[in-house]
Amino acid sequence: MRLVFIGPPGAGKGTQAVRLAAWCQVVHLSTGDVFRENIRAGTPLGAAAREHLDAGELVPDALTDALVADRLAEADCASGFILDGYPRTLAQADALDHVLAESSRELDGVIELHVGDEVLIDRLLTRGRSSGRSDDTAPIIRRRLDRYRNDTHPLVELYERRGRLIRIDGDADPDSVQRRLREDIEMRTTSKE
Ligand code: ADP
Repeated sequence: MRLVFIGPPGAGKGTQAVRLAAWCQVVHLSTGDVFRENIRAGTPLGAAAREHLDAGELVPDALTDALVADRLAEADCASGFILDGYPRTLAQADALDHVLAESSRELDGVIELHVGDEVLIDRLLTRGRSSGRSDDTAPIIRRRLDRYRNDTHPLVELYERRGRLIRIDGDADPDSVQRRLREDIEMRTTSKE
């Protein structure tokens, strides 16, 4: 199973993607997590990514694309993966197409987690009080939502045209969202057989 999660900050991509990856028994790759781990560990990648994360801006495509290409080439991704937070721009979607085509792989589906703005901002501010994430503050949240609308949302249309889009309402409680996701994936895998 090869899946991508797309959704605005606060939609619950991380929570849902981790659980779905465990259920599908595939690798979960969150570019945001990788950047945060590298910042914590003080690596060169972390140093290059830090200012972008703190500003709510995207890390340059060259860095992000290389990171994902390297990870997807590892043996444990052969049986599948769930990408969480990548691709986030049309250029990244292109880069992903190339990486997958080189190894004759294709995406099975792209999940769009849809949540209204009010709920998003509420969730992010609440999370900010406990997460300690430097980018969960009101002005930076606004920036990240703008980035999502301008840079990432066009991908929804792209994958819809390709017939790959799975739209899921992320407003519901986490368990119901996960149930819906699993039902959808199950339906697709059984209808392929
Ligand atoms: P959220 O979706 O809540 O913003 P993420 O953990 O997915 O959380 O991303 C946090 C930050 O990491 C982003 O604001 C951005 O700076 C960086 N980042 C994550 N994924 C990408 C990506 N695919 N391209 C560029 N920057 C990214």
